[in-house]
Amino acid sequence: MSEEAGWHATVVSGADAVFKTPAGYDSAFMSQQSHYPPMADLSVGVLDGETPYERGRAHGEQFAAAIEENVDTYLDRFAHNGVDEATAREHATRFVPIIEDAKEAYAEGMHGVAEGSDLPLEAVALINVRYEILFSAFAEQTADAPGGEADGCTAFGVQGEATADGKPYVGQNWDWIPEVNTFLMDLRRPEKPNALALTEAGLVGGKFGLNEHGIGYVVNGLVSAEDGDDPYRTPSHVAHLDLLDATRLGEAIGVIVTGDSPCSGNVLLGHPAGEMIDIESTPEESFYLYPEDGVLTHANHFESGQNRGSFEQLATHSLCRGPRMQRLLEREVGEIDVGTLKDTLRDHFNEPSSICSHVDPELPDHEIGHTNASVIMDLQDRRLLLTEGPPCESEYEEFHLPDHHSGSESPNFKTNREYTI
Ligand SMILES: [Zn+2]
Repeated sequence: MSEEAGWHATVVSGADAVFKTPAGYDSAFMSQQSHYPPMADLSVGVLDGETPYERGRAHGEQFAAAIEENVDTYLDRFAHNGVDEATAREHATRFVPIIEDAKEAYAEGMHGVAEGSDLPLEAVALINVRYEILFSAFAEQTADAPGGEADGCTAFGVQGEATADGKPYVGQNWDWIPEVNTFLMDLRRPEKPNALALTEAGLVGGKFGLNEHGIGYVVNGLVSAEDGDDPYRTPSHVAHLDLLDATRLGEAIGVIVTGDSPCSGNVLLGHPAGEMIDIESTPEESFYLYPEDGVLTHANHFESGQNRGSFEQLATHSLCRGPRMQRLLEREVGEIDVGTLKDTLRDHFNEPSSICSHVDPELPDHEIGHTNASVIMDLQDRRLLLTEGPPCESEYEEFHLPDHHSGSESPNFKTNREYTI
């Protein structure tokens, strides 16, 4: 096992600890933050090559074993969702030229990962299109066998008007397959904005991230009846890299509303000036949500009410998690601080399918999920607070976007500069 595999071992031991204390996470416990153990070393990959290919190669070299494990993990999950290995590999192969057409830098990154990890390109592509393969499978499963797979994420944005320090924050719990190996990408790019983004080993685009312009994004899975009707379109993770490239909020919004994804998804975007938007997308249209009283939250169902959606039939807890997070934040409006955000992300209402999500022992192995990572992004200070695994099991670790952009202004972003929206 590689060094990165320690991540997996940490998650497993944490899950065991939860089952030993099923009722141990009451509010009194949550308020005593000193009880949270320090986090084990979180995997960070500095990707600082001159080109997308070189950065991909560094990714592949540093996380080769973790990538190979992710390929196996996804092949196993695909099979349980009705997509056998041969079909999954065929899907992945067909997506490669589509990715090349959509974003050359992304395709170059995948080639670099393949070269660096010594894996076939199609194996790397398989990780990069896993959302399309799995969520199309989800869509079929919803129609044929409701009550199957249950995963989710809960996201928030809080504007400066709602926070004690006047700064905007964006964050989420990202709930997914516990076995998936992840790492924090420290992207140092001469031709594009530097960025910090959590990703899965082998995945060129991030899961959630923050760039040097303070543009932060978090995501939620959504499922609609339109998903997969025209499957060979641009995979969603390609758009995630586009978000990290954006220099203005309008540019980031454009990535989503003019996107070409074959599946539905939700993206919550924030800017250091405090502007925020949540965009629910289907393959056909987009719907928008804005903060109310400075608070914006989202889970895994269409909260705009403009699409019926179907994820909540699989993940009924989405209908609890979104409103729960909204209420926990709304009642602190004007006084929300990082402690409030941490407590909210550690909330266990409806445990184990809570905002802080844990493995449901009632589910079969191939359906389990939990909070793989929890993040709070301080957009103005380009600061990212992160836990690996459920946030109730460890203290958040802090990361800053380093000052290494060639010849650019200092990323000491505490100055009162004008922001372009
Ligand atoms: Zn928890």
